Amino acid sequence: MDFRLTDHQLMVRKAVGELCRQFPDEYWRELDRRRAYPEEFVRALTNAGWLSILIPEEYGGGGMGISEASIVVEEIHRSGGNAAACHAQMYIMNVILRHGTEEQKRRFLPPIARGELRLQAFGVTEPEAGSDTTRIQTRAVRRNGKYYITGQKIFTSRALHSDLMLVLARTTPYEEVENKTEGMSVFIVDLRNARGGLVIRPIEVMVNHQTNAVYFDELEVPAENLIGEEGKGFRYLLDGLNAERILIAAECIGDGRWFIDRAVRYANQRVVFGRPIGQNQGVQFPIARAHAMVEAADLMRWKAAWLYDQGQRCGAEANMAKLLASEASWYAANVCLDIHGGLGFAVEMDVERKFRETRLYQVAPVNNNLVLAYIGQHVLGLPRSY
Ligand SMILES: Cc1cc2nc3c(=O)[nH]c(=O)nc-3n(C[C@H](O)[C@H](O)[C@H](O)COP(=O)(O)OP(=O)(O)OC[C@H]3O[C@@H](n4cnc5c(N)ncnc54)[C@H](O)[C@@H]3O)c2cc1C
Repeated sequence: MDFRLTDHQLMVRKAVGELCRQFPDEYWRELDRRRAYPEEFVRALTNAGWLSILIPEEYGGGGMGISEASIVVEEIHRSGGNAAACHAQMYIMNVILRHGTEEQKRRFLPPIARGELRLQAFGVTEPEAGSDTTRIQTRAVRRNGKYYITGQKIFTSRALHSDLMLVLARTTPYEEVENKTEGMSVFIVDLRNARGGLVIRPIEVMVNHQTNAVYFDELEVPAENLIGEEGKGFRYLLDGLNAERILIAAECIGDGRWFIDRAVRYANQRVVFGRPIGQNQGVQFPIARAHAMVEAADLMRWKAAWLYDQGQRCGAEANMAKLLASEASWYAANVCLDIHGGLGFAVEMDVERKFRETRLYQVAPVNNNLVLAYIGQHVLGLPRSY
């Protein structure tokens, strides 16, 4: 067993780390204050080709694996930044790559790889359905060679900073399908040409994350923008989830390491009662525990990434990696906040910002309860709990 990164992976880590150093704490802090989108950062990442590394070379991308992609997002988070502004493009394009027609791949992937088109938004969640995706009510009806989409999505992130959006809609009503996961389809919506029929309203949230309520009223979509087969959209969605889970796990690992670095630094510097606070076991041990938790989660992340890149089944590992990494980063966040005492709450320390940011991963893109339900049912053979 060889746990070392390859030379190529080390190169990815180094190059992304160097790029991130051009966007220091002040950059992210100021954006957080203004709730603004990291446009310059996303452009730099795009221009350097990092956002298209999962697109095969024949379509102009980097042709690398999920292991390398996970290093990219880990480095962003480890540097104090946040990949949530742009990470979706890495895994959303998978739906087109795996299930799109050759024409769709040629039309969309090369301009995405060149940074001319952004595919950053995927509208799945709806207010009524919540985690029960089979209950979505957004409908797409086919008429005269076109589809017309009507319904509402909630928390569709980055829709205001994307040219294209994928939308999951019911093409056959819930009541009319035998298997509830059937009858949903994925469409590519070109936000640049969507005249009328589409309203996007930003939702203010706890973190600097551009997310929206999206309303569709008979939005016209050309039939050639249906991805794959009509009615199979839920399966296409599931196909992309392992990549998403692995990347989110890597982001949490990056966050965890950032919290630990800051905690160690502060615990060594801060002197109270005539000695560095890190000399107290009550301060030192939680940091050591956080480190052990992050390292353990990282092993699961690498196992999942390795299986994924080998084309092997990795649902169990990808889910466990997301669960363990999000718990480890949240533990590390609390430790880091505690160790900074009152200063942990000072905006200029960046700890409270990262604390808020890493909390999201317990909830989105998938709630950890549903990850546990997956492990219970699909890995351990327990009865389906929902
Ligand atoms: C900042 C942000 C960005 C997001 N971006 C996107 C996006 O780009 N696209 C998109 O489609 N969605 C997005 N989401 C939505 C996100 O994926 C959902 O919020 C998440 O999946 C949980 O769904 P819900 O909010 O409807 O919670 P609900 O499904 O209503 O669940 C509420 C609570 O009940 C628990 N629960 C429900 N059912 C069960 C059960 N059977 N067993 C155990 N516990 C259960 C859940 O775990 C949770 O704790 C985003 C959310 C946020 C906050």
